[in-house]
Amino acid sequence: MNAQLPADYHTHTRLCRHAGGDPIDYARAAAARGIPEIACTDHIPFPNDPHPSIRMTRAELDAYFELVRQAQAANFCTVLLGIEADYQRDLVNGHIQSLLDLADFDVVLGSLHTGPFWDLSPGDPAATPEFVEQMNRTYYLRMTELARTGLYDVCAHFDIVKRTGVRAPEALLAEIVPPALDAVAAAGMAIEINTSGYDHGAAEAYPAPQILAWMNARGIPITFGSDSHDPTQIGRHFEKAIELARAAGYTRRAAFRRRQKTLVPF
Ligand SMILES: [Zn+2]
Ligand SMILES: [Zn+2]
Repeated sequence: MNAQLPADYHTHTRLCRHAGGDPIDYARAAAARGIPEIACTDHIPFPNDPHPSIRMTRAELDAYFELVRQAQAANFCTVLLGIEADYQRDLVNGHIQSLLDLADFDVVLGSLHTGPFWDLSPGDPAATPEFVEQMNRTYYLRMTELARTGLYDVCAHFDIVKRTGVRAPEALLAEIVPPALDAVAAAGMAIEINTSGYDHGAAEAYPAPQILAWMNARGIPITFGSDSHDPTQIGRHFEKAIELARAAGYTRRAAFRRRQKTLVPF
């Protein structure tokens, strides 16, 4: 028990409204779980927030920085200052960059959340083959846009479009996912293995094993992220994620400091 696990680069604190715990609580839980390093990655504030229940406000950003500093000073484990800077097409011109300039972030996650893929469960009559194809095409086009902004270090939950368990056919994925991966590789980004998917309808990590193999073929590095919304979830399913990564041929993961990436064994 407690053999050393890789860093957990995806956690959310109570400032995200829908999560519990302060950075120091996550750091304490990580140390107890055998995780030497975490990144705090609360959602970036949005102006005119379309989802005010999931993110801190701009006015709370300084409090976030201070809570991360307190966790760093407590020294339970290494604590990185990160942020999940959700990609919104209309916000990339200026807003996200201006917030990223406010602090020396160690790691910036890019992610997509909005879209029709949130709601439809398998068996929903609205989840027709045509609809599933269209939402997947749209999703991976947005992912390509996200990568091309050059704003991000790590792509979070890369194939979360499968979240509820509604999946695109393999042949369609083979057509639409590789171009998005090419954009991610060209941007020099990593992609996390996000273990929250094991607890969703998808019942597997993000991304799927086939996508991990395509990533490795392109030299795209990985990180590990639990997407914890409570300190008890830190490093969840990481043992399975390590096996998944090794099966895809990975022996190293990306580590970040002040947005500089190095590769370290896991
Ligand atoms: Zn997310
Ligand atoms: Zn998240």
